[in-house]
Amino acid sequence: MCIFCQIIEGKIPNKTVLEDENFLAFEDINPQAQKHILIIPKDHIVSFDVMPPKVMANMTTFIQKVASKLDVSKEGYRLITNIGDNGGQEVHHLHFHLLAGEKLGTLV
Ligand code: AMP
Repeated sequence: MCIFCQIIEGKIPNKTVLEDENFLAFEDINPQAQKHILIIPKDHIVSFDVMPPKVMANMTTFIQKVASKLDVSKEGYRLITNIGDNGGQEVHHLHFHLLAGEKLGTLV
């Protein structure tokens, strides 16, 4: 079973930031910014590339709630989702990285 599915099932501990019926937000184990949260759907969806748009709409609302709970909306934050090998995706369960809490360097 994939590592994020094991986290969803409680088989691997996590530091939860926000959870509802369909999504989970938790702290990244290897933070790349002062605040580094992973946001995942509870269904095993491999990547953004195969994410149903209707589920993405609900995930958008959930991500906005995470940002609100972290109180980073005003200062800003970065969302990243890696897709496949060339995208650098290591865990093949869709996740958005939410990076915040500091001024981040320019990527693109
Ligand atoms: P990606 O390279 O986009 O697939 O990102 C995978 C992310 O999952 C990395 O930032 C890892 O640090 C993170 N990660 C892997 N295992 C865990 C875990 N058990 N708890 C929290 N974060 C994890």
